[in-house]
Amino acid sequence: MLTKTKIYLSSPHMGGSEQKFVNEAFSTNWIAPLGPNVDGFENDIQTYLGGNKHVAALSSGTASIHLALKILGVTNGDEVLCQSFTFSASANPILYLGATPIFIDSEKDTWNISPELLEIAIKDRIEKHRKPKAMIAVHLYGMPYKVDEINAIAKKYDIPVVEDSAEALGSKYFNRKCGALSDAGILSFNGNKIITTSGGGALIVNSDELKKKAVFLSTQARDNAPHYEHSSVGYNYRMSNVLAGIGRGQMEVIDDRVSARRKNFDFYKKHLSQFDDITFLDEQNGFFSNRWITCIETKSYELREKIRLELLKDNIESRPLWKPMHMQPVFKGYLHFTNGVSETLFEKGLCLPSGSNLSQEDLTRVVNNIKNTLKL
Ligand SMILES: *Cc1c(COP(=O)(O)O)cnc(C)c1O
Repeated sequence: MLTKTKIYLSSPHMGGSEQKFVNEAFSTNWIAPLGPNVDGFENDIQTYLGGNKHVAALSSGTASIHLALKILGVTNGDEVLCQSFTFSASANPILYLGATPIFIDSEKDTWNISPELLEIAIKDRIEKHRKPKAMIAVHLYGMPYKVDEINAIAKKYDIPVVEDSAEALGSKYFNRKCGALSDAGILSFNGNKIITTSGGGALIVNSDELKKKAVFLSTQARDNAPHYEHSSVGYNYRMSNVLAGIGRGQMEVIDDRVSARRKNFDFYKKHLSQFDDITFLDEQNGFFSNRWITCIETKSYELREKIRLELLKDNIESRPLWKPMHMQPVFKGYLHFTNGVSETLFEKGLCLPSGSNLSQEDLTRVVNNIKNTLKL
């Protein structure tokens, strides 16, 4: 039997200028880390995000979260609040630092961290003389979390926010860009994200001083001396000049990538929302999602699996929504404040193919497959 071409969940999509920047790195022998592409890429991101932000290009989104927590002062024995409904990379850096994660469930409106549960958790920890050192909120699948509500709580209790914007470059909250709405934002340029450097990330902070500190730590914490002198533990987390060249090319097309992904969402919604068994997450007033991945919530686990397996038969990749961190074996035993929202989403939700390079034919193939399954 002839297998149809594979449709991926989210595959890299080059714009055209990437090779030019990479070639420049080669022809000027800027192959060693650092160099003009790193500066250029950081400037591109700074300009794009707006505001008075300072950007450090790093080796991954995970490394960026690690350094964000580090420069906010998180250390051994501290507690850190973290959205439970996310990818494990949001939470792992808490453990790298010897700190303790406390997981907070989501709310139905945004699928992101529940302001209500967050405050309940903070009050509980303060009562027990364990005031959290930081909190990690995530714009999951590109949908902003309730930024004003979360920032108000952060201010009230004086706890800094790490804004995990790995999936949300191009998303906006009342016209302000996600990644630039907190004490420390992070981006990811992994291969499956809305733009990619094949692997990479960025840390976004509010002062040049904090940026310098992050860059210092990311380049082995070398003190100012002619020899190699170290008075603190460093990391090898800086982005390379070759990969930053890919990033510069990708930043030229970020707006196209956002509109293509939003069009995917509109197409799926137009063709599938007449079925009562499938629902979509709408934007709240003032929210603008990059629709990195189009997600559906089905009426049951059984239906979700039926759809997923029928798509697979047709060589179409789809995936259940993130399994909440409080359900993950690696985080077993850590305190969590839950309300059932993320567990239900994990049970019934599915990510549909959402690449910005999908053709109309691809999208139609996915929709027809799902329509046929619903008729089974
Ligand atoms: C991808 C991702 C990360 C980690 O980024 P990497 O660049 O892959 O290390 C962190 N948080 C979320 C929500 C992500 O989706």
